[in-house]
Amino acid sequence: SEERFDAIVVGAGPSGNAAAYTMAKAGLKVLQLERGEYPGSKNVQGAILYADALEKVIPDFREDAPLERHVIEQRMWMLNESSYVGMHYRSEDFNEEKPNRYTIIRAQFDKWFSRRVREAGATVLCETTVTDLVRDIKGKVIGVRTDRGGGLIHADVVVLAEGVNGLIGNRAGLRPELKPEAVALAVKEMHFLPQEVIEQRFNLKGDEGVVIEVMGTVTDGMTGTAFIYTNKESLSVGIGCMVSDFARNETTPYALLEQFKNHPSVKPLLEGSEVKEYAAHLIPEGGYRHIPEIHGDGWLIVGDAGHFVNAVHREGSNLAMTTGRVAAETVIRLRQLRSDFSKADLALYRKTLDESFVMKDMKKYKDIPNFLHGNAANVFGTYPRLINEAAQRWFRVDGVAKREKERQIIASFRKGRGLRGLIGDAFKLARAWR
Ligand code: FAD
Repeated sequence: SEERFDAIVVGAGPSGNAAAYTMAKAGLKVLQLERGEYPGSKNVQGAILYADALEKVIPDFREDAPLERHVIEQRMWMLNESSYVGMHYRSEDFNEEKPNRYTIIRAQFDKWFSRRVREAGATVLCETTVTDLVRDIKGKVIGVRTDRGGGLIHADVVVLAEGVNGLIGNRAGLRPELKPEAVALAVKEMHFLPQEVIEQRFNLKGDEGVVIEVMGTVTDGMTGTAFIYTNKESLSVGIGCMVSDFARNETTPYALLEQFKNHPSVKPLLEGSEVKEYAAHLIPEGGYRHIPEIHGDGWLIVGDAGHFVNAVHREGSNLAMTTGRVAAETVIRLRQLRSDFSKADLALYRKTLDESFVMKDMKKYKDIPNFLHGNAANVFGTYPRLINEAAQRWFRVDGVAKREKERQIIASFRKGRGLRGLIGDAFKLARAWR
């Protein structure tokens, strides 16, 4: 017998969960399919959760969500081989009643979110891989097939929340294949340490947390960043670079992670830790120009599958949850209007995103990937080196007159990058940042 749902959601990451929850809560008959053993089983990493996006889906999430620490301090480091130049922002204001950013462990968080989805009334099936989208004669998506057999499952609309690989969308020709210059490969480890050790090392009390975002010579001149996030009893430590850069340079993510962990500014933070989990994952970092069509007859694409990641601000899960919620609200609205979920009607999803921070931010940074592509050796190598050398010259007290130090610093930049290079880079960056 054929079953029929108001909506099918493919995937139980943050985007799919936000979509399924919102629709189920509004009384729609929702089926969510997840290929993993349980939601989050494919997501063993720690990460930053941006509260605002989740609050708009589940306002009382703080009551029972598995949160690690709320972030009170952000450190941004620019590394060379022996040092870093950093900017730290720490504020007591982040010790607020409803903190703005938390560290989380995705496996636990996704499981919790999924429980909320089921409580809202959705049917959630794990260990079920969607194998195909099914269309009618006119090409409208009318349901899916899964690896469990059992024939076609019908729905008025299918929400593709299948993450970065997006194989179902690719297979159905809804989105193009990922390009190596549009996707980063990240590796990540969990380093376990006693709670008191983490609190002493990072100057924290209670549930306070620190995140460190790092760029510089640790990526061997490739476009990429590294990070350390404090959880309650562990640190998430990782590094990622564009796949196209890995293909050109003969290094591996593992080698970079080792190099990062052994940096003299990083090593003491990890000292004595026990490494328990290891994960590798892709991140769609190509930006606005790589966003595929996100709606069509009977279907919507949300989250990483739609390339919604703001690499400059390290935001992904919040865009996933926001696109999931907006997709769901679109479906709810159209259902009230007795829509047939045609492409023309579902364009409301795109329009709503265009008017929100999601597309505005994606558009703002649309030229950054191109700026970095081809300029990575300077941005991630030459400049971090020059800036660290300048800092050392400036702070070392050695009988050299200050005016002479200034002269040496300016000379080092001219020698390291050339006057034309400096002006050209500044101009290109300013234009890409606008
Ligand atoms: P996913 O979380 O990838 O979920 C997709 C789900 O769909 C998976 O569970 C998968 O099993 C399932 N699926 C796929 N295909 C099928 C199929 N055919 N049938 C059934 N199920 C299927 N973002 C942040 O906001 N903060 C961070 O700190 C952060 N750190 C990150 C660190 C790393 C190392 C990485 C890799 C990413 C990080 N991100 C971070 C990005 C963030 O993880 C993603 O943006 C977010 O998970 C996207 O959510 P999603 O629901 O779209 O996709």
